[in-house]
Amino acid sequence: MDTDVVVVGCGPVGALTANLLGMRGVRTLVVERGTAPHGQPRAFSCDDEALRAYQQAGLRDEVAADMYPPPVVEYVSGNGRPFATIALDEIDFGLGSEPLHFFDQPWLEASLRGGLDRFPHVELRTGVEMTGLEQDSDGVTVRLRDTGGDSTIRARYVLGCDGARSATRAAAGIELSGTSYAEPWLAISGDVEPGGVRQPRTRFVCDWRRPAFVSPGAFGTHRLEFMLRASETPEEMTRPETLERLVAPYVDPARFTVTRAVVYTFHHLVAERWRAGRVFLLGDAAHQMPPFLGQGLCSGLRDAANLTWKLAMVVDGTAGDDVLDSYETERRPHTEEMAVTSVRLGRVFLVRNRAAAFLRDTALRAVQAVPRVRRFVRHFEFKPAPVLRKGLLAGGTRRGAVGTMFPQPRVSAAGEAAPVRLDDVLGAGFAVIGPSVTAATVWTGPPAAFIRVLPPGSVATAGSGVREVVDTDGVLTAWFARHRAEVAVLRPDRFVYAAALDAPLTR
Ligand SMILES: Cc1cc2nc3c(=O)[nH]c(=O)nc-3n(C[C@H](O)[C@H](O)[C@H](O)COP(=O)(O)OP(=O)(O)OC[C@H]3O[C@@H](n4cnc5c(N)ncnc54)[C@H](O)[C@@H]3O)c2cc1C
Repeated sequence: MDTDVVVVGCGPVGALTANLLGMRGVRTLVVERGTAPHGQPRAFSCDDEALRAYQQAGLRDEVAADMYPPPVVEYVSGNGRPFATIALDEIDFGLGSEPLHFFDQPWLEASLRGGLDRFPHVELRTGVEMTGLEQDSDGVTVRLRDTGGDSTIRARYVLGCDGARSATRAAAGIELSGTSYAEPWLAISGDVEPGGVRQPRTRFVCDWRRPAFVSPGAFGTHRLEFMLRASETPEEMTRPETLERLVAPYVDPARFTVTRAVVYTFHHLVAERWRAGRVFLLGDAAHQMPPFLGQGLCSGLRDAANLTWKLAMVVDGTAGDDVLDSYETERRPHTEEMAVTSVRLGRVFLVRNRAAAFLRDTALRAVQAVPRVRRFVRHFEFKPAPVLRKGLLAGGTRRGAVGTMFPQPRVSAAGEAAPVRLDDVLGAGFAVIGPSVTAATVWTGPPAAFIRVLPPGSVATAGSGVREVVDTDGVLTAWFARHRAEVAVLRPDRFVYAAALDAPLTR
């Protein structure tokens, strides 16, 4: 084999995938047909799970440095009156970051590509297109093309991170199924000079005449998206005078420099299989969804976080190839739930006649008089939770804590001057964690970090074989009490693999 893994495409999903493989010592070649990172801001938001995935790649602080966490998202009627609000500043899903961030995609991609320089065993070749592949029982022969001509390379596995029109998907003979939406949208990104913002809030403008999304973004940017009417063409909608008229209620056109104005169409499409032998699909190559929940890219990042540690274990011989089947088993249901929720949200948001819009606004205001419903909306409880129902889990079924994502509070640890995020103590592999964990705790699975959780107010000491952390805010202590567990085993992607509910696993 020339390499263990070929990653096709170095968009955000391919770049994160290669970083996570690099962290785990997997020999990886990334081929990207473009010669520069994607120059256009497309994805705009990411969530706390995405930041946790960047953290696993050692890049959280770098990519988060200039992100903007909006305090609220408002849904407003055509007259600008809010009828629903997501109060992001009141929400903590417990995963270590704010629930939503806005970012600049070119900055993100540059940071992720920069991260690859840390690994001598990861190579990025730009200006190289994957043109085809053939697989046999030992590996995959990948055909490549660059300005020097055609060549081939042998790898054990190929990961198609090559976007919506994936050549990997086509070469593996995998079909897409689903629907595309007829309504085209105009997405405008630009830089605003100080004092140029007229409407500073993050808003879905649910105006039946022209639904829109407007928000400040990272780096003093602004994003504005407008639905096109049936009679409007991309040419007329991207003319400077049209852009000026559309953005004027939100930013001062004289102090707004447009960096991108593109008309695009949404899709709700899923690949029929995400694996064909030694070939896997990730990100937009595997699934595309409307952006109303901001989850298109986030879903691809979850794919990377899910597949890469399993692949590393297969490559180094710790696990058999069949564990890779759990990738689609685990990821497909959650992705489909996200996509369906996005589509439903779009239906509420995109009501296109005056009477239906009036009914929607009135009904949504009224039902939020019920505290439970108000909390459901205000605290973003309609966002599907990260839960694995089946897959590579102890017992293969969901039992209490098993399959949920473990919380990530800040903890105090011996040798750390200030509290740190929990994952930074856990390391890149499995972790055996809990109040009863000792160096004698028996764990017969892959190598793992042993972490003993001490209650708030304790002092962590540096021991051998087990690391102590003080649960400064009581989050972990409460988690173990709620699940009546003494010990949990966490997978490298921080999902709970097993939890001992009654007795500690000590001899
Ligand atoms: C207007 C818009 C707004 C969006 N907003 C959001 C949002 O707010 N939040 C969110 O999470 N998502 C959003 N998305 C979706 C998001 O942009 C995509 O999900 C994300 O970019 C997909 O990343 P990817 O790495 O899978 O694919 P891509 O970003 O498409 O990257 C694929 C890469 O593969 C390369 N490539 C393709 N074919 C080959 C080949 N044969 N050989 C070598 N290289 C190849 C390409 O050059 C490219 O660099 C939005 C999308 C659009 C269009």
